[in-house]
Amino acid sequence: MAKAATMFLLAGAARALRGHRLHHLARPSRTVMSAATLDRTTPTKLQDAESFLKDIDVFIFDCDGVIWKGDSLIDKVPSVLELLRKLGKKIFFVTNNSTKSRKGYKGKFEKLGLDVEPEEIFSSSFAAAAYLEQTEFKKTGKKVYIIGEVGIEEELDPALDLIGVPYIGAGKDSDKEPNMKPGGKLEPDEDIGAVVCGFDREINYFKIQTAQLAINEMGAEFIATNLDAVTHLTDAQEWAGNGAMVGAIKGCTGQEPTLVGKPSPLMIDYMEKKFGLDRSRICMVGDRLDTDILFGNDNGLKSCLTLSGVTTEEKLLSPENKVIPDFYVDSIADYLG
Ligand SMILES: [Mg+2]
Repeated sequence: MAKAATMFLLAGAARALRGHRLHHLARPSRTVMSAATLDRTTPTKLQDAESFLKDIDVFIFDCDGVIWKGDSLIDKVPSVLELLRKLGKKIFFVTNNSTKSRKGYKGKFEKLGLDVEPEEIFSSSFAAAAYLEQTEFKKTGKKVYIIGEVGIEEELDPALDLIGVPYIGAGKDSDKEPNMKPGGKLEPDEDIGAVVCGFDREINYFKIQTAQLAINEMGAEFIATNLDAVTHLTDAQEWAGNGAMVGAIKGCTGQEPTLVGKPSPLMIDYMEKKFGLDRSRICMVGDRLDTDILFGNDNGLKSCLTLSGVTTEEKLLSPENKVIPDFYVDSIADYLG
């Protein structure tokens, strides 16, 4: 990722994490891994896979760039997952991509030949649903306005028996245009109580104006699934990510969203509560410094960067990089020893 984009993302994430201080710039050194004290200013390449695995009970894997790249599985991933399961490790897959629901991701795992339970998958679309559940949004009797794709719709859908919050917007508003003739106006549903903004390839002026009115005039809460500056729609180039959609709504409301995807602590808080996990024995594994490794480091987890995705070794080792993982690997195949 370009440096400017990284800085944009970090700045956005820092502002969005209401009340949560980001510690990556002044993180005290911790004692980690087999009682060895690591030098936190220099990333450490994983050498001893066996003792690393002994110190971890739970692996949280980012997906794109770690498990797969686009539609192809990264080499030896099935063997790694098989080994971890054999060793009794808990495995979760966490992705900031909100375009699919957990159900949608299960289909993707299956297509790639990986057997994964829906409970093991945490997409930012689900994080939005979990946040609405935690904040008891349903009790308000209001609706959610979605800027985003089918993943968020599926996670909120009452018919699918997930959290069952009424929603409007998303694909249904993709072809709409507000009345912009003299005297014209857009009159949004008056029951909108929250705007969830996720990656939306069909974002338009109608959706932006609806969100603007809901937030500015109706007091709706502004929730962002993630702030990724760029995403990987194709492997030929980087594409404008959800930071663009969230930026549009920030631009017309002057408001910062509540962030529910990485690096927000919401997902780990939810997992800790639901599964009773010990944070110090959880390892976050990802290919992005500014979301995955930051998420691990800021939430008291171990962190492992894999070079199989967007981050090069050169960028990781550059003196400008301040987000230091506990370990890094060429790919998670290095866990096989
Ligand atoms: Mg990734």
